[in-house]
Amino acid sequence: MTLEAFLLEAGPLASTEVEARYLSGSRYGAGQAPALCRPANADEVAQLLRLARQHGVRLLPQGAHTGLVKAATPQGEVLLATERLKSVFELDPLDRLLRVSTGFKLSEINERLAPHGLQFPIDLSADPSIGGMLAHNTGGTRMCRYGDVRANTLALEVVLASGERLRLGRGLAKDNSQLALQQLFIGSSGALGVITEATLRLHPLPRASASALLAPASLDAVWPLYVRLTQAFGGLVSAFEGISRHALEAAIHVRGGASPFAEALPPYALLVELSADFDGLDVRALLHGALEAAFESGELVDAALDRDEALWGLRHAVSEGLREQGAVIGFDISLPRRALWAFREEATAWLAAEFPQAKVCDFGHLGDGGQHFNLVWPRQAPALPDGELARLREGIYARVAAQGGSFSAEHGLGPLLQATYDALTPAAQRDLAARVAATLTDDGAALGAFRFGPSSQD
Ligand SMILES: Cc1cc2nc3c(=O)[nH]c(=O)nc-3n(C[C@H](O)[C@H](O)[C@H](O)COP(=O)(O)OP(=O)(O)OC[C@H]3O[C@@H](n4cnc5c(N)ncnc54)[C@H](O)[C@@H]3O)c2cc1C
Repeated sequence: MTLEAFLLEAGPLASTEVEARYLSGSRYGAGQAPALCRPANADEVAQLLRLARQHGVRLLPQGAHTGLVKAATPQGEVLLATERLKSVFELDPLDRLLRVSTGFKLSEINERLAPHGLQFPIDLSADPSIGGMLAHNTGGTRMCRYGDVRANTLALEVVLASGERLRLGRGLAKDNSQLALQQLFIGSSGALGVITEATLRLHPLPRASASALLAPASLDAVWPLYVRLTQAFGGLVSAFEGISRHALEAAIHVRGGASPFAEALPPYALLVELSADFDGLDVRALLHGALEAAFESGELVDAALDRDEALWGLRHAVSEGLREQGAVIGFDISLPRRALWAFREEATAWLAAEFPQAKVCDFGHLGDGGQHFNLVWPRQAPALPDGELARLREGIYARVAAQGGSFSAEHGLGPLLQATYDALTPAAQRDLAARVAATLTDDGAALGAFRFGPSSQD
């Protein structure tokens, strides 16, 4: 009855026709939703939230549905798709800020910014909405240079579960005159309110860049090379990505190309990029010079140079390549740099003993400590029963925790990680988060698919 009453009062703002594209996420299958709302502005969002609360209906905000933690795939909630929230696009080129509605996609805003020589510099091989990027605090391949979404957000407009509309932050680069409450909503996975507008920090488009795919002599050579490049070029290092041989093979296969290396594929490759956002610097010559020195010192054994677009094409094809090979079991983790290889070795050995069919195809953003420790479960192998999959996940996360790492680096929180969050987050921290969520949503349970509230263990 509650849903019927909600639908009746929402009128044309809600529909029981829900196309399949709203139900299927990027990785973990389809869900189901009894209805879909597509508000066009913050007033309509507020109206829907008020009605949902009044009638005890749970709403699930959904952006471009590219998230990888099941946070926007409905499990019976009414969907609130943000795709029509596009009324605001206000560029301030002097302060290099953009005030923008959160239904815009990343590609759409960057297309509009390019003629002004500006960009919102989060780079990834998907095309998310601004709202989803805020709710998951997206990182991406250039995070080591530009930071994540949090670092590039100055203000938000949010609508709380009560329907109250709030502007949080003034959009100033310096502003210590209030608590930065907007930060609470970044990384909140749609559970604390619906973000309708954001003021984003923009960056100049690079004027010159140069990339290289490198074969380090061994894993022990990776960090010395990282230190060499960052000490020599500081902020010019705009990417330092790692790609294991299995991940690179999958990317090469899906792109239908040949190996970029003259020699055999190395066990682990690095994609590095230098870029400058001012004229007059030959970053390619700088990169070549540094790499020559790395060859001389024995850190490198092979390199593919001067094919930047093709090399980045390969990097961005990794996810698709892995999906082609079987069921992807993703782990979006981060670790202190000093602990990464120890974790990798230990986790790989444990998998070989306990789950020999799981193929480790890791890759990721080494420059910021991130690692997608992704596994492919081959199509021809019998599917992993749920209990075994849970054991596999627990085994990997226990090893991440033992090395001082995080079980969610940049993909945010969602139902996929609920049990891990409940088990691994210190009780005092969980309790504070639950109290914040309860304050913002009155009962902590009307919005989103992730629960900051008390876990089933409490
Ligand atoms: C091929 C591929 C590559 C990827 N690479 C990266 C990567 O390199 N780095 C990275 O960080 N991520 C990556 N991702 C993950 C994903 O793209 C990001 O998490 C993205 O930010 C999700 O945005 P979305 O619009 O698709 O959000 P959705 O998936 O629609 O939703 C994600 C969360 O945001 C909430 N939400 C959406 N809009 C709002 C709103 N307006 N207000 C409040 N809550 C909202 C939803 O309820 C949900 O909790 C990748 C994904 C794919 C498929």
